[in-house]
Amino acid sequence: MRIDIITVLPELLESPLSHSIVDRAVKKGLVEIHVHNLRKYGKGPRQQVDDYSYGGDAGMVLMIEPVYQMIEELRAEREYDEIIYMSPDGEIFDQGIANELSLKENIILLCGHYKGIDHRIREHLITREISVGDYVLSGGEIPAALVTDAIVRLIPGAITDETSALSDCFQDGLLSAPIYTRPADFNGWKVPEVLLSGNPKLIRTWQDEQAIERTKALRPKLLEE
Ligand code: SAH
Repeated sequence: MRIDIITVLPELLESPLSHSIVDRAVKKGLVEIHVHNLRKYGKGPRQQVDDYSYGGDAGMVLMIEPVYQMIEELRAEREYDEIIYMSPDGEIFDQGIANELSLKENIILLCGHYKGIDHRIREHLITREISVGDYVLSGGEIPAALVTDAIVRLIPGAITDETSALSDCFQDGLLSAPIYTRPADFNGWKVPEVLLSGNPKLIRTWQDEQAIERTKALRPKLLEE
């Protein structure tokens, strides 16, 4: 799989994408992640990528030309399954979308900044719009890093013990059961007895019950679905 991220602030993406599971997946060759600085196609000596909005609203708007040229450069090399704009008014990202995107070959994530992007980009170049929640951030970089992380950890081989990703929250439409590690007793705060029983069947039953109970309490809507 290949993920291309287009941004005016590549530095914002450096750290989140160069550690832990994502970094390991890249090093194992499971995914290629390329971050592109939009300024490459900026206009004039100052490599301008944004301008004032028509209509006079406050805030700078990313211009269509640099975005168009950047996307054209990428599209000349390969076909993309999705060209995604990170946007607060897009479809709300969830585990289902992460699963779906993890099966794609090539995707582009476009990060907006400032006031947003020229709407013609959304009309003519973008195939999908994804939001990370109903709140507004300063740029699409953190959302793009978030989406990338959620996708990459699902690629087979990214997590060494694959069942680990499969038993995560939401994968079976339920929250996961509580987890514990040593010591079994800390200050009298005990790990549930059943987990120390060594009986996989009992443990599994307990985990299933816990998953349903926690989902009922914390995300009842998941059960309705
Ligand atoms: N004026 C826009 C917000 C711009 S925020 C509006 O009212 O909708 C600047 C950029 O941050 C956006 O272009 C988008 O790429 C990104 N962004 C902000 N909040 C986001 C969210 N919740 N999900 C995904 N991207 C977001």
